[in-house]
Amino acid sequence: MTIAEVSTKPSPATDSSHNPLTSPQPSLWRDPDAKPFVVFENVTKNFGDFTAVDNISLNIYRRELFCLLGGSGSGKSTLLRMLAGFEQPTSGRILIDGVDMAGIKPWNRPVNMMFQSYALFPHLTVEKNIAFGLKREGIADSDIKKRVADMLDMVQLGHLGKRKPHQLSGGQRQRVALARALVKKPKLLLLDEPLGALDKKLREETQFELMNIQEETGVTFVVVTHDQEEAMTLATRIGVMNTGNIVQVGEPHDIYEYPNSAFVARFIGSVNLIEGHIIEDEVDRVRVKSKHMDAPLYINHGISCAPGQQVNVAIRPEKILLSHELPEQTDNRCEGVIVDIAYMGSMSIFRIHLDSGMEVRVTQPNVARDMGARFTWNDRVHLYWDVDSAVVLTA
Ligand code: ADP
Ligand code: MG
Repeated sequence: MTIAEVSTKPSPATDSSHNPLTSPQPSLWRDPDAKPFVVFENVTKNFGDFTAVDNISLNIYRRELFCLLGGSGSGKSTLLRMLAGFEQPTSGRILIDGVDMAGIKPWNRPVNMMFQSYALFPHLTVEKNIAFGLKREGIADSDIKKRVADMLDMVQLGHLGKRKPHQLSGGQRQRVALARALVKKPKLLLLDEPLGALDKKLREETQFELMNIQEETGVTFVVVTHDQEEAMTLATRIGVMNTGNIVQVGEPHDIYEYPNSAFVARFIGSVNLIEGHIIEDEVDRVRVKSKHMDAPLYINHGISCAPGQQVNVAIRPEKILLSHELPEQTDNRCEGVIVDIAYMGSMSIFRIHLDSGMEVRVTQPNVARDMGARFTWNDRVHLYWDVDSAVVLTA
């Protein structure tokens, strides 16, 4: 990508209107009486004796931007393709807006799908690519013209309508594909790795555009991605997939702060998992003994577990504090030696060897210019954190 290409691109909106806490959009999934728009009911898909989707039940609400997040082969595309009607479930039901989709052909569903390859017609201009589906529906030419022009404006390509796809950058092609998918006014838009072909910087900018367009149109989006940062940025809620199952569903913040398993904690962001066993288990607190820690771990939330159960205590790198002096607190602390520092500009990442041999990752924001000078290689440091910074994982 050239510099010129970057500078002609409209800058992404930087407002926080997508934040579900401040957004005017209703967070329907928090309302127990809300009627879901998409329902997966015990949906399974077998290919021969291989189970790609394993008994998934999931509700998605109107105006959500729901992300299916998982590693390669976890079943994300298969789930999306069943919603689009390109695959039939082996068992279970899929409902859209209360209607059972069994036997309903893809083109008769209130759904459109945007493919990773974009599948633009190379010989047609941008305008004609967008108009293609409308022409086939026999809509009047004047209507088509207006709808295409509106769409081009929305994806900020008004000036490029006469170009052919090969005369566009990757990001522009992505926006043409999005316009073509939205111009038919689907109630539900499915996007399989929509930004996968873009480089990192362009992908981040396009994420904001995608969010703005989704809000503007009010269309419900289901987005497949393997990129956890992308899911965290885009999603109203995330469904984390692993081997054909949805292992956790929640808002990005909940999934990050309260992962329900070691798998999810590791998959979303970076985490330190400290092995130990329960030594005290009350409704409002837990103590865990770990060979890696100088003192027992103390966490101010209860869990359901068996006495003495083996657990992982998950602590995010940014929640660990470093000090040369012994901290006052007697819980949640240990000592180690800094073996590696990566200076990342806005923050630094420390790799620290505990005396037990465990390696811990700590990140510190570089709030002052001389932060780097405070800690250096081979320093012996104390690590400590608050009683509400860690979570106990039993799975
Ligand atoms: P993801 O999109 O999460 O990477 P997919 O849903 O594409 O995963 O695939 C899930 C699993 O199902 C993979 O192991 C894949 O090989 C298998 N699979 C997908 N489609 C077919 C098919 N048509 N025939 C046989 N196996 C398939
Ligand atoms: Mg896929």
